[in-house]
Amino acid sequence: MKLQNIAKTSLGYFPTPLIELKNLSRLLQGPRIWMKRDDLTGLALGGNKTRKLEYILAEALALNADTIITAGAAQSNHCRQTAAAAAILQLECHLVLGGEAPPALTGNLLLNKLFKSHIHWAGENRKGEDIPELAAQLERQGKKVYVVPYGGSSPLGAIAYAQALTELQTQLTVDSFSHIIFASSSGATQAGLMLGKKLLQAKSEIHGIQIDKTTTAKSTLSDFIIDLARKAAARGGLELGFSHEDLHLNPNYLGDGYGIMGNLEKKAINLVAQTEGILLDPVYTGRAMGGLIDMVRRQRFEAKDSILFWHTGGTPALFSEALTMDI
Ligand SMILES: *Cc1c(COP(=O)(O)O)cnc(C)c1O
Repeated sequence: MKLQNIAKTSLGYFPTPLIELKNLSRLLQGPRIWMKRDDLTGLALGGNKTRKLEYILAEALALNADTIITAGAAQSNHCRQTAAAAAILQLECHLVLGGEAPPALTGNLLLNKLFKSHIHWAGENRKGEDIPELAAQLERQGKKVYVVPYGGSSPLGAIAYAQALTELQTQLTVDSFSHIIFASSSGATQAGLMLGKKLLQAKSEIHGIQIDKTTTAKSTLSDFIIDLARKAAARGGLELGFSHEDLHLNPNYLGDGYGIMGNLEKKAINLVAQTEGILLDPVYTGRAMGGLIDMVRRQRFEAKDSILFWHTGGTPALFSEALTMDI
């Protein structure tokens, strides 16, 4: 089964590397652990939004947009990659960010400024609630606006991750891995990998570690992901059904809430830095890796299992206030 060809615009460098984390695997004395380096997608310090934006912004270009708007938290990696992509494509970029303007620009926020994006502080509304009003205002000024969905989690964003699994298959057969583990938040990474698995008829468990308890969707994140996988298939010309049996969304590592770094994240960031020289981020990959390490320690896997940790990026947030606490 294949998706029909869907336009994309090149924004990153693919395939991203696939490496084995030998020191970490040895230290944990569990299954072999590999890593897919989507922190190295190459767009302004990389991350999983690069793949999604290649499809989403191709649609914006096809619709002749000259202005894009998206939303996220103050340290949103999605917003930083969108701002960088807008610079490449010479689009005006507006970011609607949660919270208030902080006294100092750090991490992703600093980079957003470098890319000359227009920042709108939205207080509690960190998931794009204020976008319709801003879009209407910009349209009244004669701009042709395209809204990039929150987290890039639309059918096109999911299609990007279905294609990413096909990319992995060219490096090592997907079924070399018993489990594919990653941080799951706005949903398209997981929906796309689920779709990719179905297309390749692979057996690996697609296992998302849930990062954020709240969702933009009116439904639960689980229902949203299942629905998004179906819609992505439909966008690619295939009628496929997905159910809760296709979904492994692990809610055990939500900690004290979105963006709050606890011991789980700190320990994982330290361990991976010190065993592999690889940087994780405080919000997503630190939490997801913390979850993986905890599952290994609880003997959730068998020795014959082989785990792929999909690094989704986020490292610029290491340079935000998040790490001013002791590590
Ligand atoms: C956005 C993001 C995720 C979550 O991906 P979704 O497709 O939104 O679920 C994971 N890791 C990082 C670093 C991200 O920026």
